[in-house]
Amino acid sequence: MSEPLPIDEELVDRLAGPLGERLEAVLDRIRAAGGDQVRLLPVSKAHPVEAVVAGQRHGLGVFGENYAQELSAKHATLGAAAPEFHFIGQLQRNKVRQIAAAVTLWQSVDRIRVADEIAKRAPDARVLAQVNLADDPGKAGCNFEDLPELVDHMQSIGLQVEGLMGVGTAADDQATAAAFRRLRAQADTLGLVECSMGMTADLELAINEGSTMVRIGTALFGARQ
Ligand SMILES: *Cc1c(COP(=O)(O)O)cnc(C)c1O
Repeated sequence: MSEPLPIDEELVDRLAGPLGERLEAVLDRIRAAGGDQVRLLPVSKAHPVEAVVAGQRHGLGVFGENYAQELSAKHATLGAAAPEFHFIGQLQRNKVRQIAAAVTLWQSVDRIRVADEIAKRAPDARVLAQVNLADDPGKAGCNFEDLPELVDHMQSIGLQVEGLMGVGTAADDQATAAAFRRLRAQADTLGLVECSMGMTADLELAINEGSTMVRIGTALFGARQ
């Protein structure tokens, strides 16, 4: 493995100012939507490790990442100073081992085979089941129909299933709200507390429908490269 690159402190300085302002604006949006109890997960995917360090300067301690390679590179670069990472991207079974030590919550588990691999590499891991909220079967996530079996299986192999995760449908607001409502209802039916839903474009809709965690990239870090 190649040596991790050093942190570019000047870049951290440059990113920290705007990030502080955007963070205040996002927290204002969350509060205005009535989400005082809703947690903010900053999504640093496709931004440099310096964006994570800038976030840490503002007191952020947990970051969402989508790509195993990128997550493990950031984790290695930061070493003992690494924050917690949630994995929120499409998860391939053969990537689980690479990031098992760095991930504190697996938000995007949508298949039994992947769940089995997580249980093998990280026994007792905390997980969310990702549900496909789009009509498009090509999108990530388990179908609502298959969800009870997936959750049951994950619990039976010792994973700590804390809740559900879903990505808004990007259709009109009404359809998105209905999808979020269905996700919240499923979580309640399954006795699960956590409902990770809401991104930059739809965090208000998600909070209104009972989100417990919003995952915010663009509104905090700007457009991705
Ligand atoms: C990229 C991503 C986010 C953040 O999206 P923004 O629209 O930039 O806020 C949240 N959740 C998932 C699963 C993502 O892939």
